[in-house]
Amino acid sequence: MRISLSGVMNLNSESREFTADVEAESFAYMGESYPVAKKEPVRFSAVSDTAKTVRIKAQTKLELTVPCDRCLEPVSVPFDIDTDYVLTWEDDGTVRIRDDEEPVNYIDGYELDVDAFISEEIMIGFPMKVLCTEDCKGFCSVCGANLNRGECGCDRTVLDPRMSIIRDLFRQKEV
Ligand SMILES: [Zn+2]
Ligand SMILES: [Zn+2]
Repeated sequence: MRISLSGVMNLNSESREFTADVEAESFAYMGESYPVAKKEPVRFSAVSDTAKTVRIKAQTKLELTVPCDRCLEPVSVPFDIDTDYVLTWEDDGTVRIRDDEEPVNYIDGYELDVDAFISEEIMIGFPMKVLCTEDCKGFCSVCGANLNRGECGCDRTVLDPRMSIIRDLFRQKEV
């Protein structure tokens, strides 16, 4: 959904509130696409006293379904988006948040693309690690069984070849 900011610009610092829907059914991160499990409309509030800047706050919650890093079971990952940006329009039409080097990519003229904005915030807030539970056991390296569902009985003790050399040295000393 695109919303026009032209109606909230240059209003003598009078605050305007509005909501907009997230239409995307999935969001991409690092080349993977994750379905939206839950979403709610984005609540915006805008304050502007010139035609070139607006302070815009946005708030929403959504959840993406992301596979667990260890066992690939789907995990619902919550995103609590709560931003407060001052956007500035430069003479050539590019829009920046304060001193950011990169112009924002979700505004064209005075139109804000809500999905592109949310996508940007998801990229910023995406967790480094997604686990179904803190102590997820993942897959057996031998048979591939999901170890959260029970022990498969495989022998997974893999010796590091460098360690066995050291062990051999110790053995020689013992002799
Ligand atoms: Zn897991
Ligand atoms: Zn196994």
